[in-house]
Parts: sequence; structure tokens; C-alpha cells
Amino acid sequence: MENILNKIGVNLDEESRLTNDSTFCFGCHQDVPCFNDCCKELDIFLTPYDVLRMKNRLGISSAEFISDYTEPVIHGESKLPFLKLKLGESGTCRFVGEDGCSIYEDRPLACRYYPIGFGIYKNEASGGSDFYFLIREEHCKGFMEPQEWKVSEWRKAQDIDVYDDNNKGWMDIILDKKMYSPDLEPDEKSLKMFFMGSYEIDSFRSFVFESRFLEIFEVDEAEQETLRSDETELMKFAHKWLQYALFRKPTMRMRGK
Ligand code: SF4
Ligand code: SF4
Repeated sequence: MENILNKIGVNLDEESRLTNDSTFCFGCHQDVPCFNDCCKELDIFLTPYDVLRMKNRLGISSAEFISDYTEPVIHGESKLPFLKLKLGESGTCRFVGEDGCSIYEDRPLACRYYPIGFGIYKNEASGGSDFYFLIREEHCKGFMEPQEWKVSEWRKAQDIDVYDDNNKGWMDIILDKKMYSPDLEPDEKSLKMFFMGSYEIDSFRSFVFESRFLEIFEVDEAEQETLRSDETELMKFAHKWLQYALFRKPTMRMRGK
């Protein structure tokens, strides 16, 4: 059994794990004494859908967002390049204002889940399952509020499903056990593909529509139209392409084969 969270540095015993039906008391609003305290000195890892939503919120390209608002992190075991949110000089998130998060509707997944952490168990026999845990930080007084939540209710209130659905293909890639094989040293080309397919949606669009991509892969006219008009679908298509390119999964069809 392989605990992926341990792989990325979070150690968790079984008793601390929550399910969708576990309950906790929590409330966060402008009147809590710690309002905004959680938006500083933190590491917020970004998913592809986070990047898409945030760069569109700011009205900038994916390249501009990556260079101005993120910093790269290389994951120890897989060597995969991830992104985290770049904080301001004072160590505070650049999106926090007096009234709270200035990009609230498009805040990243990690901020939505907080104070819940999220993990996935990989199990050879059953394939694995999701689990949750509470992040209890001393400064956070939200746990003293009376409102009781089930984890499933919290997820719904934070609109988390749409993020999980749109990131699913990417999560499958980063949780693929091949990525953690000690024999695997991803080459430079694979790492660049991973980065583009994960975060650089504008480069990926050019790759699909301005290179020989459509001569090589079979993508019917209706799907091409969808990919041109719907950026979220383009992002999910990038994850399908990555599964093919990195693991040779049958997620893409080559012309004439
Ligand atoms: S994105 Fe918003 S919620 Fe997340 S840390 Fe920054 S200000 Fe806080
Ligand atoms: S209650 Fe917790 S999540 Fe809410 S503002 Fe305070 S520290 Fe942040």
C-alpha cells in the first residue's frame, strides 16, 4: 500500500483520516479575530485548473501568470515540476485585502479545502481511495465557531467538485506509480511536456493548432471546435495527451492506425 501524501511530505496515521461523513465544527467570516491570518507564510501548490481560473480572473496569459505569480517547485521523488503561489515580500498572499480574498470566486483548490487537507491512498488491490484530514493551526480560531459540517457538506459549500472533476486526468498522472519508480528518471523532454500540458495552456493551444499535431493525431472536427472554444476542455485534452505521451496510455489515436 502506498500513501501518496507521504510521498509529498505529509505523514498521516490512520486515526487522523476523515471520510466524507466525518464531522467538524468550523466557521470563517470577517468577525473572527484571526481574519486573514491564514493567508500568509504558506505554501499553496497550484493545480492546472487553479492556474486556468486565476489567469483568466486576472485577464493575463498563462505565461504571464506563471512568471509573475508563481514559483517552481521540483518534487523530490518524481522530479516533476510543480508550481506554487508566489507570496508578496512580507510573506503574505498578494491576493489578500482588508475584505479578505480579492479573487475569492477563483481562489485555488488548497484555499477551498482549508482547514481540510486532502490525500489519496494508492492500493495495488483496490486501486485506492480519497481521504481527508483536519489542518489544526493554532492561529485559526474557526474551530471555535459552532457550525457543524460534514466533510461532504464543506466540499459542496466550497465548490470543490468542479475542481476535482477538471483536475482528474492530471491527478491520475501525478499519482501514477510509474512516476515514483526508482528506475524512472524523466528526461528533459518529458519534464517539458509535463510542464506545458499541466500549466501552459496557451503554449499547448499553439502546439495543437499551429504544429503538425492534427496531422499526427486523429481529432475529429467537432472535438477540434470544442478545443478551440472551451479552454477547460483544452486543458483536459492536454492531460489526455500527457497520459499518452508519458505512459503510452491509449488516450489518443494516431492517424492511419
Ligand atoms: S488566494 Fe485568497 S484565500 Fe488563498 S491565500 Fe491568497 S488571499 Fe487567501
Ligand atoms: S478562521 Fe481560520 S481560515 Fe478563517 S480567517 Fe481565521 S485563520 Fe483563516
